[in-house]
Amino acid sequence: MTKKPLTSEELRELTLGLNKVARNLWWTWNQGAQEIFQELSPRGWQNLYHNAVAILHEVSEYELRVRLQEPALAERVRAVLKAFDAYMADQQTWAHRHAPALRANPVAYFSAEFGFHETLPIAAGGLGILAGDHTKSASDLGIGFFGISLFYREGYFQQAIDPNNWQTEYYTLLNPKNLPVEPVLNAKGEPLVCRVDIGMNQVSFQAWRANVGRAVVYLLDTNRPENEQHFRDLTLRVYGGDSTTRIMQEVLLGIGGVHLLRSLGVQPSVFHMNEGHAAFLTLELLREKMAAGKSFEDALALTKSECLFTTHTPVEAGHDRFSSDLMDYALHRFRTQMPVPFAELMKLGRVNPQNAQEPFCMTVLALKLSRAANAVSELHGRVSRHMWHCLYPDKPVEHVPIGHITNGIHLLGWMKGTVRRFWRRKLAADRANGSASAPRTPSASWEAEVNSPEFWQRMADPEFVSDEEIWALRYRLRRELIEFARRRLLIQQQRMTHGDFIAFDQLLNPDALTIGFARRFATYKRAPLIFQQLENIIRMTRDPARPIQFVFAGKAHPRDDDGKRYIQHIIHLSKYSDLQGHLVFIENYDVHVARQMVSGCDVWLNTPRRPLEASGTSGMKAGCHGCLNLSILDGWWREGYEGTNGFAIGDDSHADSVEQQDRVDSANLYKVLTEQVIPLYFLRDSQGIPRQWIQRIRRAMVTLVPQFTTDRMVREYTERYYLKK
Ligand SMILES: *Cc1c(COP(=O)(O)O)cnc(C)c1O
Repeated sequence: MTKKPLTSEELRELTLGLNKVARNLWWTWNQGAQEIFQELSPRGWQNLYHNAVAILHEVSEYELRVRLQEPALAERVRAVLKAFDAYMADQQTWAHRHAPALRANPVAYFSAEFGFHETLPIAAGGLGILAGDHTKSASDLGIGFFGISLFYREGYFQQAIDPNNWQTEYYTLLNPKNLPVEPVLNAKGEPLVCRVDIGMNQVSFQAWRANVGRAVVYLLDTNRPENEQHFRDLTLRVYGGDSTTRIMQEVLLGIGGVHLLRSLGVQPSVFHMNEGHAAFLTLELLREKMAAGKSFEDALALTKSECLFTTHTPVEAGHDRFSSDLMDYALHRFRTQMPVPFAELMKLGRVNPQNAQEPFCMTVLALKLSRAANAVSELHGRVSRHMWHCLYPDKPVEHVPIGHITNGIHLLGWMKGTVRRFWRRKLAADRANGSASAPRTPSASWEAEVNSPEFWQRMADPEFVSDEEIWALRYRLRRELIEFARRRLLIQQQRMTHGDFIAFDQLLNPDALTIGFARRFATYKRAPLIFQQLENIIRMTRDPARPIQFVFAGKAHPRDDDGKRYIQHIIHLSKYSDLQGHLVFIENYDVHVARQMVSGCDVWLNTPRRPLEASGTSGMKAGCHGCLNLSILDGWWREGYEGTNGFAIGDDSHADSVEQQDRVDSANLYKVLTEQVIPLYFLRDSQGIPRQWIQRIRRAMVTLVPQFTTDRMVREYTERYYLKK
């Protein structure tokens, strides 16, 4: 049967639709949409780093119209557009039932960074990734949600390793035309310009709107012609520059963010500060209330009733502190609009209000001006209550008002295409066979149920999925990682001018137990801990019967030379020690590299100095891919591990001194590796299948995956904190 060619009207609808979808980050968690962009230009998809907007610039409108005359492609485009429209218009969301109040008066969520996708690199690490995943789940749940952040036009730094194996940083300019963002316009169709007082100046800014499904994130941008150059560059880089830049960025984020929401007519019911960077928003809320005639005391109480605060780290450097001079400078104009003396405002950021020497701490401000505060795991809650007990000296430490909600991940956003295709096939076959484990509502796609425990319970059932199928999937994912690593290493090597030649296609062994480690190279994360027992590790990588190997990645903060030395050490080992070929370092860790690694590795290694890893989220991304965690019992893993779903290094305690902790943890790591991980992985039956290992994978999928999602997390935030009691 031949199909009639599409009319120009139908073609117009499809091309407009595709352009709309490309500019909504929804496509980053929709497999069908991704496959269409990829198919339009397979090579472009790779070279443009999976950028849907750029693909639609690469493919001319004429080419697109011609291609859409392929009936199969047009059919798939129609299906994706239909799914998108249905998603956007859905009136049956969780929030319709459980949080209708937040639809009229939404959540305003302020975060200095957001990580949505590799094409919009405006996150420095886990904090930003969490904010991005929070937004995606808020959209899925149908919660009224506006994010506020900055449009860093050079983003976070890109990492390149120089011939001395030293991390160097470079920046690339982001082009908004090639990004899923659109300028926020006023009624005349021009960029909406707002102003904020920073230092002695009025600084103008505009905003970019990122559509994240139904949620919206506004990115403030001071790169306006009327600003002096140094103010234009305020939004150049994520956490760029010194503490002066830092405080000015935070004034823009907090105070400017409130201005923008007001000028858009958004009336949030709650202001959620994701980390202390945004806490200046409380000062603007105070100013508004006093301008409306409230007393300082009333304004404080009212502001407090609107604000929430999430603290993310026990590491001291993670809590911004500014000197009085710097505060005086940064808020010079702003404070003239405040009818209270500056000294009163300064007290809001001090543990001891009377101590004029104490710097102004953004965490203290956020804690004092929030109706609720939380940490990001149970242990982190306990640590935070100790850390801030000083603010509540009259209360016993367990009554310090900091609770906890354990972090999660946006599952569909992290699940690799290979695994999504696995589920798609599996559930289609399952339905065709009329199996009892088929979804109750056949019309709903499997994606709609992916966060539910029942969905993952299937993995316990060998009738639903056999060990052989799981093992085949693991092999496929490991090979994909190895081929990705070889390609990356080849490119890394081509940049080097001399020496260091490694035959890239001999790197890594598809049959070896593959251990992954990728995170920021903050020293407390102790990336090199496993190599303390170098001779033993080398021996294990060379064991022909039970080989192991390592894939590492991660960026050190540009000013963290200790972190850079860790990177240097690991790359040195990868090139010059007997680990060569069994250890690789992939440069420029980002969301894409993370996805390859958490899916392709067999074991996800995590060795923080307890209790400094407040939660950690990369290990949560491993579960749905069948990668098992091998981790210190810190952060989320302390709650997730139950003896059968991965591996623990040590027990639920830690030594007092850093030296002792490092020694004990290193010994425990070696012990669990040699006594549990390696034997279990290589314990094969007569068919060559590691049944017990696969049993752990099943347990991890059943017990961890549905628990550590942002779907669960955002529902908790909503029920416990967003909805006013
Ligand atoms: C998930 C993720 C993180 C956070 O991982 P942690 O385990 O918290 O260190 C950081 N960076 C990227 C790119 C990620 O994908």
